[in-house]
Amino acid sequence: MKKKALLINPYIEDFTAYDLWLKPLGLYKLSYALKKNNFDVSFIDLLDMSHPSIPKKFSKKRENGTGKFYYEYIPKPEILPNIGRRFKRYGIPISSFKEELKKIKNPDAVFITSSIVYWYKGIITTINIIKEILGDIPVVLGGIYPTLYYHHSKNTGADFVVKGNFEEALPPVLEEIFGKKFALDFEIYPDYSILKDKTSMAIQTSKGCPYSCSYCASKKIEPLFFQFPLEYNLKNFENLKNFKIKNIAFYDDALLYNKENHIKIILKEIKKKNFNFSFHTPNGLDPNQIDEELAVLFKETNFKTIRLSVDILNKKVKYENLKEIMKNFFKAGYKEGEIEAYLLIGFLEEKFEEIKEALYDLFNLKIKSKFAYFSPIEGTKIWETLKEKGFVKDGEDPILSNKLLFPYRFKGIKPEELKELKNIQNFLNQKFIF
Ligand code: SF4
Repeated sequence: MKKKALLINPYIEDFTAYDLWLKPLGLYKLSYALKKNNFDVSFIDLLDMSHPSIPKKFSKKRENGTGKFYYEYIPKPEILPNIGRRFKRYGIPISSFKEELKKIKNPDAVFITSSIVYWYKGIITTINIIKEILGDIPVVLGGIYPTLYYHHSKNTGADFVVKGNFEEALPPVLEEIFGKKFALDFEIYPDYSILKDKTSMAIQTSKGCPYSCSYCASKKIEPLFFQFPLEYNLKNFENLKNFKIKNIAFYDDALLYNKENHIKIILKEIKKKNFNFSFHTPNGLDPNQIDEELAVLFKETNFKTIRLSVDILNKKVKYENLKEIMKNFFKAGYKEGEIEAYLLIGFLEEKFEEIKEALYDLFNLKIKSKFAYFSPIEGTKIWETLKEKGFVKDGEDPILSNKLLFPYRFKGIKPEELKELKNIQNFLNQKFIF
């Protein structure tokens, strides 16, 4: 008899959350891998805003596939400071989750994914409800949170915690649960058939990142960098087309690395095949890689959201270089304000004036700015500096990594300064038509 696996995308508990093409890509791949191993797979996506219980205001997506998550207010965990915002649980109502669980007939095991580490309380809520409704069922937790905070994640109520890639880490767990061997060492594609809302999807044409930024945990999540072969990537795009998915977000950490042999070839093939997708790059692109040909390929293959990682505060990208890069975009047909850039802020001893200057620099370059907030992760290089200066402690609650806490924890931008910077940013961005 076939074994039954229930996959769950868990709740988020945070001050804020927005669906910026937030997709549990690992779960879709797991679905494919389990089906290949003769499992029956069911899927409950607690962040699925097309669920019938969700009010229209939240279920309506923007044309590009992004949108709000439905939420309910919950008490703020005491360890978090008061930041003038209420704490929320994002996802379908708990009563609807319970009903969905009751509809699944006798699952043999539940598999939960995870992403941002400081969202772990949403995982605990999810597991508590699963245990309440399904009783003594094996619950397996995987994804980024246990990969980065393995020991901490063992206290979530999950029966098994999987660290790293599931292809290697899951087979022994499956063997323990089902008493027989499973192999997941084959080419794994995301299984789009379980997708409820088909307005958008994510894709990864590579794994890991070849760089080692001091504040980033990418190497701890995926130690090796690997670009998938062209055939694999094209098959993924074919699958997306077959499922009539229009908006595609690239999840690659370094999409433009080795551009001549990777992204340019992929985009030329996409152009030839006339796929008609809308592409988005929520992870931020390395602007130094944008040349004239690439900017034209972006335009021809319909890149609708282009976000650059400018990091001009750390002087990784110089104003003069950005000026040249922007010429390529304008020549390719992009309009003023159509290109966006992340300004990563939240570091120690940052100054209000330098961030303000960076905002004006981006505006003068006709780039719309977006703030990205630094979130400290234990084990990164910058963590050690913060630790030496007494701002963080090893073993502290990962909820303190919340990206909104930096004005309250580090000696840099103060809360009222951040507010003013956001006002300046809005004022400047509103001047663009896009
Ligand atoms: S910040 Fe981006 S470029 Fe730097 S290591 Fe992380 S994923 Fe790579």
